[in-house]
Amino acid sequence: MSAPLLRMAGIGKAFSGVTVLDDVDFELRAGETHALLGGNGAGKSTLMKILQGVYTLDRGTVEIDGEPVELGSPQASRRHGIAMIFQEFSLVPTLTVAQNIYLSREAKTRGGLLDDRELERRAGRLLGELGVDIDPRVEIGRLSTASMQLVEIAKALSQDARILIMDEPTASLAHSEVDALFQIIDRLKQRGITIVYITHRLEEVIAVADRVTVLRDGGVVGTQKTSDLDMQGLIELIVGRSVERAMEHSERPVDRTGVPLLELRGVSTASGLHDVDIQLHAGEILGLAGLMGSGRSELARAVFGIDAVQRGEILLRGNPVRIR
Ligand code: ADP
Ligand code: MG
Repeated sequence: MSAPLLRMAGIGKAFSGVTVLDDVDFELRAGETHALLGGNGAGKSTLMKILQGVYTLDRGTVEIDGEPVELGSPQASRRHGIAMIFQEFSLVPTLTVAQNIYLSREAKTRGGLLDDRELERRAGRLLGELGVDIDPRVEIGRLSTASMQLVEIAKALSQDARILIMDEPTASLAHSEVDALFQIIDRLKQRGITIVYITHRLEEVIAVADRVTVLRDGGVVGTQKTSDLDMQGLIELIVGRSVERAMEHSERPVDRTGVPLLELRGVSTASGLHDVDIQLHAGEILGLAGLMGSGRSELARAVFGIDAVQRGEILLRGNPVRIR
């Protein structure tokens, strides 16, 4: 087999003497979408900041196409085709989409700046190739977070990025926007772009990732093909103990004999809840599980009074309440 696109080997990193990454191996194959998983503090962002040139490594090596490289700065990483997709943060709100995409390049153009018309033409073509319907002449500040993220992706591509790092890209997106992002990821894959995808949402892993690497306490616990994964095994890799033991651990005595603290009876909303019944007793932790779009957020919105309850009722300590 040919060398992987990227190989990070034996990576070590400590902050003020505290080891955060210990002997981490991480590989990317050209054109794959690779999910990087692990609990909070596992070291995902630190590993990616090393790849991005924001942090220098204490130990270990990085190879691209089988050649050792030094990634001491973000500029060096960018030269090697590595780009981080930030949310809105690296875009200038008062400039247009086209100006933002070509911001860093404008200055470099010999023989003066490119004119706006030319920038807009190029940006339009790039966005079109991605299947993104955003007007290049519009000011960034007028776009949604999701659209800004797509502009970030276009910007990275305009700088010839081959490896895109997406750290929790769906954290502030609505369902429909997540679907749009997944379609873009498909297009990126068709162009041979390699993606590192960090998320806490395992259903997204199943939807987009070819392989996963799981970090725990600064070490790699495994790399696997997504098609070989079962959800239970994946959760066990992440939390480091069997799912049954994890459940035992979290079980608390709850008195379910009295009137529920909160009860939903046949609650339906315009946002898509149909006839939902729930009972929640004092001190109880109720998990809402389901795929994207199954109504988890909608349920919370209804209880919180953001979405109007059209049918059914909500009771607090047995008393019907109207939460507006
Ligand atoms: P993850 O992204 O997986 O949640 P991080 O890479 O952000 O994990 O953090 C891993 C560990 O490194 C955490 O314990 C965190 O507190 C620590 N850490 C991260 N960045 C720094 C820093 N700049 N200085 C000191 N400690 C840090
Ligand atoms: Mg992180």
